[in-house]
Amino acid sequence: MGMTFAEKIFAKKTGRAAARAGEIVSVRPDVVMTLDADAEIIIRFEELGLPRVWDPARIVCALDHYGPASTRRSADLHRRMRLFAEAQGIERFFEVGEGLTHQIMLERGYALPGMFIVGTDSHTPSYGCVGALSCGVGASDMLSIWATGELWFQVPRSARIVLDGALPPGVFAKDVILEVIRSFTASGCTYMSAEFTGSALADMPMAERFVLCNLSTEMGVKSTWVEVDETTRAFADRHGGAYGIVAPDPDADYAALKRFDVSALAPMLACPHRVDNVHPVAAMAGAPVHQAFLGTCASGRFEDLAVAAKILGGRHAAPGVRLLIAPASRAVLRRAMEAGHAQALIDAGGVFLPPGCGPCAGIHEGLLGQGERCVSTANRNFRGRMGNPDSEIYLGSAATVAASALTGVITDPRPYLA
Ligand code: SF4
Repeated sequence: MGMTFAEKIFAKKTGRAAARAGEIVSVRPDVVMTLDADAEIIIRFEELGLPRVWDPARIVCALDHYGPASTRRSADLHRRMRLFAEAQGIERFFEVGEGLTHQIMLERGYALPGMFIVGTDSHTPSYGCVGALSCGVGASDMLSIWATGELWFQVPRSARIVLDGALPPGVFAKDVILEVIRSFTASGCTYMSAEFTGSALADMPMAERFVLCNLSTEMGVKSTWVEVDETTRAFADRHGGAYGIVAPDPDADYAALKRFDVSALAPMLACPHRVDNVHPVAAMAGAPVHQAFLGTCASGRFEDLAVAAKILGGRHAAPGVRLLIAPASRAVLRRAMEAGHAQALIDAGGVFLPPGCGPCAGIHEGLLGQGERCVSTANRNFRGRMGNPDSEIYLGSAATVAASALTGVITDPRPYLA
């Protein structure tokens, strides 16, 4: 019997001919990433008296969750991280405002096909979009890797997700993955590797593939993989790094297999307070919105700002709607400025936040008030996620967020993109 992508990666990384789902293996990651939300790793590392990290060249770290610091404590944690990175010679250390770690991993070519990557963030499976196996781990696991270079994993079972057809106008990868999550449910792929394949991928640039993998976390995946094609190879060649394509065998064994016809999809929304509580935008149309948030590792990329500018350009957000924009990185912001999209969004009433997570995790920069409703491009809408348990978060594409900001109520974006 053949191997899935995950089985092949674990076989390759352990130097064996084969690996099987369920096996426990010890692996040395190619790259590890962490962020300011896990500053405790540094504190524990120092408390244990460990002298040096195992390989500073393999560590990526960005201050993205709560920068610029808004409390004395967070300022002190950032300071401690800067000092640690300097002392340990961690050169891939990114200051406040450089962007989200997940975005930086792709922009800088730190994630490449065939790599095994570990990160202390639940959305680390995002790098399956480039053909890497990436997964999230806890802070104590990362501490172990920093000390020894190695960690044990259970080889995951795999789900094959076939996306057939072509995306209709006004429908994006965000709508596709929300429909996939609705179908699987929030726990439907727990500790699985989700493999995406099918003809619909041909129309999806890397930014859209990233969305598929990023949101897959919300159905419990351990890792993801998007079928490698010319888009993947062009991405890898652009970054010039050494890479090795790994693909599943045709006779691999899957724990689940589902097909979706994306041609039949409409814009979708994840409604409060679960990401698998998914309905067509049209079913929720007309509900008043107080805040529209464009950003996060799910959808803060140039393509998202571009479609929002297309809808909002020459217009203005509805009275009473706060339009917040957090670009995924400084490079995204710069590109949006050069293309005129940033100006269009500012003229439409948008407020630009520093590149980073923004209010996604309810830490700072745009928390919700009592009874308020936010339409957001983020990946989580749990009760209280944006700082108030008595508020509501609806998750949709950048187009849905922009159209809703324009009208002041939840709005299907398709008429604005015709
Ligand atoms: Fe987590 Fe949100 Fe930051 Fe993404 S943008 S890493 S989901 S806090």
